[in-house]
Amino acid sequence: MQITQALHRACQQDADQVATIYLDRTRTMAEVIDRVARLAGALRQLGVRADDRVGILSLNSDRYHEYLLAVPWADGVFTPVNVRWTPAEIGFSLRESDTRVLFVDQAFVPMVPALKEQFPGLETVIYSGEGDCPEGMLDYETLVAEATPVEDACRGGQQMAGLFYTGGTTGLPKGVMLSHDNMVVSALGSLSTGQFMSPRGRLLHAAPMFHMADVASWTAGMQLGCTHVMVPSFTPLGVLAAISEHRITATLLVPTMIQLMVDHPEATSHDLSSMQNVLYGASPISDAVLERARKVFSSASFTQAYGMTELSPVTTLLLPDEHDDPVLRRCAGRAVPHAEVRIVDPDDQEVPRGKVGQIVARGDHVMLGYWNRPEETADALRGGWMHTGDGGYMDENGYVFVVDRIKDMIVTGGENVYSAEVENALARHPAVASCAVIGVPDEQWGERVHAVVVLQPESVATPAELTDFCRDYIANYKLPRSVAFVEALPMSGAGKILKRELRKVHWAEDGRQVQ
Ligand code: ATP
Ligand code: MG
Repeated sequence: MQITQALHRACQQDADQVATIYLDRTRTMAEVIDRVARLAGALRQLGVRADDRVGILSLNSDRYHEYLLAVPWADGVFTPVNVRWTPAEIGFSLRESDTRVLFVDQAFVPMVPALKEQFPGLETVIYSGEGDCPEGMLDYETLVAEATPVEDACRGGQQMAGLFYTGGTTGLPKGVMLSHDNMVVSALGSLSTGQFMSPRGRLLHAAPMFHMADVASWTAGMQLGCTHVMVPSFTPLGVLAAISEHRITATLLVPTMIQLMVDHPEATSHDLSSMQNVLYGASPISDAVLERARKVFSSASFTQAYGMTELSPVTTLLLPDEHDDPVLRRCAGRAVPHAEVRIVDPDDQEVPRGKVGQIVARGDHVMLGYWNRPEETADALRGGWMHTGDGGYMDENGYVFVVDRIKDMIVTGGENVYSAEVENALARHPAVASCAVIGVPDEQWGERVHAVVVLQPESVATPAELTDFCRDYIANYKLPRSVAFVEALPMSGAGKILKRELRKVHWAEDGRQVQ
């Protein structure tokens, strides 16, 4: 399989169909394929050869679509960069992955000198932003206009297509090598459920395109000949407006984005009736937010995906009709056709149904490995199964309930408490906008359940009131023993709550209690 195949097919079937929409710029399939062949020609001229990495440091735009196609067309490997990283972090990833050619848009131009200092091997910076090209960089549009188009050189199959960095939620991000087969299999497996996305729809890229979750929705949209609409970055109002303006039919959102949108005072004043498929995942969602979202996007079916960058990423799906069952609604669905899932104990033995263990998966969507980390690769893939680091259990019918990242589990007085369960109870309180639950040191209990809460605007609640409220939903030992109120929770570039930042205040790096 090849990433670029879908473009050839879409163009063959309807060359005049709109391929991309970004701000006031619209391009047809025929225009895109011509531009991609030229951009690939330019990359070849610049010396990009088989398996060379080409970095992307840019906000979402129609050009992201072109990078993701032109780099494999030139037989290279795209390396999307997390736009929230500092220059030191980006410099590190460029150096580590030996990425010598980089696309940069206007938002990141000021960072380029620092990146060159960090990694002198960065030979070519292609300016793909709007307006004049800064000195010392090559202009994207000039390259596209002047280069000679080349034939598609993509080999596909087990060849590496992309080097993606993990979300960095639990620690330093790791480079994940994904092949063409990995990415296309994941998309086709998801689509084979028949409920994932509609053909030739309008897919909105609201989540950052550097993240595998959005690239997975892109790959699925490519298979179906969709029109891709991009907003530069997520804002609740910007996305609501884009949905109504462009009559969007499908989009991928992470739970924090959904929460910000559905709680926005203007959420219901936009026409969202075109929406058919809301895809969500990448972190747990609370029942309360899901319920509000289903009301706001009343025309749409909801599909939850569970997975990770290392699994290209989709591994289980909770399909639209399964959302009507109050028990199933709390799980992440069942293994997709391309994946096999098991729950294992620390010795890698399968545990009985209903018992919590580590979620492991195998299939053609499992990564080639971590970039330059043979030991971590061997450990993560031991026995032929990808070890997710997520705790969960499976019911009698194969439904997977993700309870927590193993690193986030709280052990209090010898009992295991899963932070997601406590968060879910808290989120039902009308004054709670979002929350995170962590374990903090406690002399008596070892760890104690601590909640960090963001209240809805102009709402009030006391810690005692919130704890009391949770009694209706969770056992006594799981109740938050302390509550802190904050203005906002620390977020990763992919929109996930950084619990390690919250924990830092209470724990030293080596696990000791902070005095
Ligand atoms: P890092 O590996 O660098 O710490 P990360 O794990 O957040 O970052 P990703 O690959 O983006 O990087 O995220 C995968 C993780 O996201 C999963 O291991 C899981 O913990 C969480 N996740 C994904 N989908 C879901 C879901 N539907 N429900 C709950 N958690 C989810
Ligand atoms: Mg991870």
